[in-house]
Amino acid sequence: MTICIYCQEEKESSTSHIIPAAICNNGPLLNGAVCHECNHRINTEVENNVIQAVALVRSFFALTGKKKSLSKFPIEIEYEGEKRRDYIKTDTDLFEKTFFFKVGTDRYAMLGPMEKLDNAAEAHPKLKWSDMKEIGPDSINVSITLDLTILFGTHGLRLASKVGFEWYCLKYCSPELIQGSEYDHIRKYSLESNYSHQTARIITDNNILRQIGNLPFGAHSVILRRSPSRKIFVVFGLFNLVFYLVSIADSRIIVDDEQLFLINSQSGEIYEPSIKRYWNNLDLDNCETKEGVDAIPFLIDRVLMQLNSLKT
Ligand SMILES: [Zn+2]
Repeated sequence: MTICIYCQEEKESSTSHIIPAAICNNGPLLNGAVCHECNHRINTEVENNVIQAVALVRSFFALTGKKKSLSKFPIEIEYEGEKRRDYIKTDTDLFEKTFFFKVGTDRYAMLGPMEKLDNAAEAHPKLKWSDMKEIGPDSINVSITLDLTILFGTHGLRLASKVGFEWYCLKYCSPELIQGSEYDHIRKYSLESNYSHQTARIITDNNILRQIGNLPFGAHSVILRRSPSRKIFVVFGLFNLVFYLVSIADSRIIVDDEQLFLINSQSGEIYEPSIKRYWNNLDLDNCETKEGVDAIPFLIDRVLMQLNSLKT
């Protein structure tokens, strides 16, 4: 039995994956601090939505989670002006599927693996098929839409709030101290969908992002520090794509050694990079942040930058 950091009731405790297992293999765990009900509630209301939204990123980094499986993401395939939508889990799935197209007024074409096409064509003997031919990659156009808007809404912000709070519990604060009322906002915002005091926002401060934004794409980062105004902040970098500023509390607790941790999302390995000089003077009290759709243009730039970095 434990007193839960969220509902503050004495209940059977569970193990919380601070960063959801589906976006961080073997990531950090918080034991004996969160009850089953609160853990389950955050999983279903918050984490599952974010996990679905980043299915493409999960596939790219092979983050299979506790269930050892990936989730599907949407693609659109275009052939001679005709478009089809489908869902795949990895890019190799694309070559396992068949796609059916009408070409011109009375002819038909199918794209897919040879052994499947024969059977599929035989099933429609009345249709006039275009000649079988091998087409090059230039003839088809596959596009993938990466819709990350959920990261800017309540789901992304509540996830960041939960990660920040649990990381702080893990690193700095005993379960008894965490019962103080100064943590009411963070515990309620993480847990309740309509709690109005928002404890997480999206960092759009270019000065700060210049200092922390060049961390590797795909890793997560967590910075915990106490600002000169005695506020305790966690900066959470989700895949180092979106950076959230999480306000933990105005706290009596002295966080004396400020730390930046990088968490490898593929292995779960946690390490401290030796780049302290870059973030040592981050002014989190005056950090520029945005919320909701205002932050979207900003994210697009970051995604493009990170994707470009993969090409090199
Ligand atoms: Zn609870």
